[in-house]
Amino acid sequence: METYRELNLGLPAQCESIRSEAHHFAMEVMRPAAMAIDRGAEAYPFSVADSRLGQVLKASYGLGYHLALIPERHGGLGLPSIGVHILLEELGWGSAGIGLSLVASSLPATAVIADGRPELIAQFVKPFAENRDASWIGCWALSEPRHGSDHFLVGSEEFRYPTTRAQLVARADGNEYVIEGQKASWVTNGGIATHALCSVAIEPSKAAHCFFLIPLTTPGISREEASGKLGQREMNQGALVFDNVRVPRAWALKGEGFEQEVARLLAIAHSSMAAVICGTARAAYEEALTHSKRRWQGGKRICEHQLVQERLFKMFSEVEACRALSRATLVHNWEAAMPSLENAIAAKTYCTRTAFEVADQAMQLFGADGFTPGNLIEKLFRDTRVSTIQQGANEVLGLAGAHRILE
Ligand SMILES: Cc1cc2nc3c(=O)[nH]c(=O)nc-3n(C[C@H](O)[C@H](O)[C@H](O)COP(=O)(O)OP(=O)(O)OC[C@H]3O[C@@H](n4cnc5c(N)ncnc54)[C@H](O)[C@@H]3O)c2cc1C
Repeated sequence: METYRELNLGLPAQCESIRSEAHHFAMEVMRPAAMAIDRGAEAYPFSVADSRLGQVLKASYGLGYHLALIPERHGGLGLPSIGVHILLEELGWGSAGIGLSLVASSLPATAVIADGRPELIAQFVKPFAENRDASWIGCWALSEPRHGSDHFLVGSEEFRYPTTRAQLVARADGNEYVIEGQKASWVTNGGIATHALCSVAIEPSKAAHCFFLIPLTTPGISREEASGKLGQREMNQGALVFDNVRVPRAWALKGEGFEQEVARLLAIAHSSMAAVICGTARAAYEEALTHSKRRWQGGKRICEHQLVQERLFKMFSEVEACRALSRATLVHNWEAAMPSLENAIAAKTYCTRTAFEVADQAMQLFGADGFTPGNLIEKLFRDTRVSTIQQGANEVLGLAGAHRILE
């Protein structure tokens, strides 16, 4: 396997050591587990105990990789922002599904940190930051069965004044809210999470929404297993169903308004996803490069054919472009008081589309071998394809980005 040689940017030693540690973990632990789960060793486990996915998550938590997005003062890894990008890229190289599961796990904590109330930080951030055996797993539940894209169209009329009734609704009752309804079966970690950051519509207004932090052991919450899927099959997903669930008002995040909060969270989530999927694109390019040196056709290795050389170089350039854009965006958004959503959308949509194109080119280079089930390249092809829909369909995110630049 080719190992990646980055331009010499004079990175701090801490970045080089996280890269080599994370790359080793991605190669030895994440990728073999992701391949096994993808082939059906276990589909969608609802428990981290005794499952292959559980073992990988425990090992990832043991290394603190669930804390990539958590600031050092709240127990994070203390990496410079460029080190966060390097870590996420390596995780995406090992497995997009598991890398993004780790990112999703930390999103509730990032929202609570932005809210800033010490009692919520003690309840939801501290135990997560201290956890090392994946017994604290978060999820971010935005989508509903009848609300997919419209929840990602920040700034649009559809987002501000939804025409279809929200499917997760809270009504105030004394010091509590009573929550009813459900979130879509696509929620990452939905089957295994211990707590959720949920967007909820507040009755009686159709338009007022709020984020709630909710432990998923709260009475009245159940889960529904996601059905099989094409890509990132190692990622656990499931629906959350709420039946007369009573939560204290304190679990509702205050924030600067729902739209601002969604914009902030999406900016972090999209920047992170661009970094993860850049690693997946690199994995596809490296697979193709290695294959081109091994496969003989027409009396020579296929890398000796000019068409193949040109194709490989194009893939290399595309991975470099993904890295440059995703890294600049993540570094800015990690350090900025208010991250830039439009830049994050640009990075997410560009990197996911490009990753799929790189994987598609790699499939072409593998010829018929690429279509063999159990071949890594066909998995990367499926994993990158779903990334163009995951966390907002790219064309819909493009509309949201257009709203921002036209504001
Ligand atoms: C692997 C994976 C992980 C996910 N993880 C999570 C998670 O952790 N939490 C969560 O809440 N959700 C999650 N999702 C759900 C994801 O956010 C949605 O799938 C995504 O937002 C698209 O919504 P949809 O699938 O309902 O598609 P739809 O909204 O039905 O859209 C289908 C197509 O219709 C078109 N379209 C729809 N609306 C518009 C519009 N207004 N303008 C123009 N075109 C439009 C677009 O072309 C779009 O591609 C995940 C999904 C996947 C696949």
